[in-house]
Amino acid sequence: MTSQRARDRLAARLAEEGIRDERVLEVIRQLPRHHFIDQALHSRAYENNALPIGHGQTISQPWIVARMTEALIEHGVPGRVLEIGTGSGYQAAVLAGIVPTVYTVERIEELLRQARRRFRQLGIENLRSRHDDGKLGWPSDAPFDGIILTAAGDRIPLQLLDQLKPGGVLVAPVGSPSQQVLVRLRKDENGEVTREELGAVSFVPLLGGIG
Ligand code: SAH
Repeated sequence: MTSQRARDRLAARLAEEGIRDERVLEVIRQLPRHHFIDQALHSRAYENNALPIGHGQTISQPWIVARMTEALIEHGVPGRVLEIGTGSGYQAAVLAGIVPTVYTVERIEELLRQARRRFRQLGIENLRSRHDDGKLGWPSDAPFDGIILTAAGDRIPLQLLDQLKPGGVLVAPVGSPSQQVLVRLRKDENGEVTREELGAVSFVPLLGGIG
């Protein structure tokens, strides 16, 4: 149930469902997703579903983790990526398997504590994490080559866009709880931002403050 075979099968399914980037599929094959969820749910770890992780939050569906990662690296692998919404830590760990340095921010301390333990146990070292309101970004280490939000607000916080480097890419779900779309913003060398919509998605809300 938590075997290599289960991961291989999940990666094959994601490929069938349109994930093309071999670097992304390879990380999905390698990374033990069951490590990021409660033991009681281990038998469901390699289904293509979101699952509860406590505190009313979820680990995202593998397909959406793969799609967002693919969208982020499509035009080149960013050197330093900031993730907002660590949650279980799975998306951050997927990123850490591909990009040189990952920064991740979570507002619920207990979730962050558990995610940090998982990163340690898996020996992931190119990842820094912080307990804070991610709407504020990570100003002391900004700007970033890539930013990814894994919770949906009705708009992308300006502070985050300000912390994106010229040439950088930001991927985020945007909209109301009932109607969200995945967007990709690219900031050119002059600071001009272009926006693409990548399809309908469903995420937990981006909240303010720390929990
Ligand atoms: N990337 C996660 C998805 C978790 S769900 C994973 O792979 O498991 C989204 C997470 O965003 C939740 O844990 C929620 O607490 C967090 N979140 C929501 N608003 C936030 C904010 N303003 N700052 C930081 N984290 C936030």
